[in-house]
Amino acid sequence: MAKSGGVYIRRRAELVGTVRENGVTDERVLAAIGQVKREQFIEPALRHRAYEDLALPIGMRQTISQPTTVAFQTMLLDTEPGDKVLEIGTGSGYQAAVLCEMGVRVYSVERHRRLHERAKSALNKLDYRVLLRVGDGTQGWPGIAPFDGIVVTAGALEIPQRLLEQLREPNEQKRGGRLVVPVGDKNRQLMTKVVRTGKDSYESSRRGDFLFVPLVSSK
Ligand code: SAH
Repeated sequence: MAKSGGVYIRRRAELVGTVRENGVTDERVLAAIGQVKREQFIEPALRHRAYEDLALPIGMRQTISQPTTVAFQTMLLDTEPGDKVLEIGTGSGYQAAVLCEMGVRVYSVERHRRLHERAKSALNKLDYRVLLRVGDGTQGWPGIAPFDGIVVTAGALEIPQRLLEQLREPNEQKRGGRLVVPVGDKNRQLMTKVVRTGKDSYESSRRGDFLFVPLVSSK
């Protein structure tokens, strides 16, 4: 066990190098990727691949996202410690753990109970405090809103309107909330960032092509 732990530490450092080469420049995000034990969010039979920069299956036809993608989304969220962040699509729990390492308060919604339960136990085991819920994340989490950041980790056909309403409005003390969501069809999505700039105003920008499992809405 001690031996494999050492191997993971080395591979994790190498993964940080790969993510950096792929264009993630935010040192705080790179440090967070360097902290999270990704092997703990993957079933034992696939753990030897935990530090390849790839999406891997986690059951229920879903995947743990590629580390570069997790890092890129985290960079776009542009969080500050203490921020309140909502994740849609808990999946393995890995992205939630990376957000915890950024010092933010993390809330996460997953539609599959089985994945939710597994993510809960992986996060608990590593002492990450995340509030998790089973449900349709396209509705957000109105009881906890507004959020400084919302990250959707599944591909959406369009920007979920309910999520826009749940972004924080800017005021003298704080910037407006940021939504990071891959938007497109099932073959390709553009990473879309929307910033709330006022009560009824938003600014959006797009960067880069991605491929996510679909965001499934019950509405
Ligand atoms: N963030 C995850 C990635 C999981 S893949 C990780 O780090 O491992 C995307 C997840 O979104 C899947 O688990 C899928 O079940 C979930 N999902 C898809 N549509 C959803 C919805 N409407 N509400 C909540 N979760 C959803």
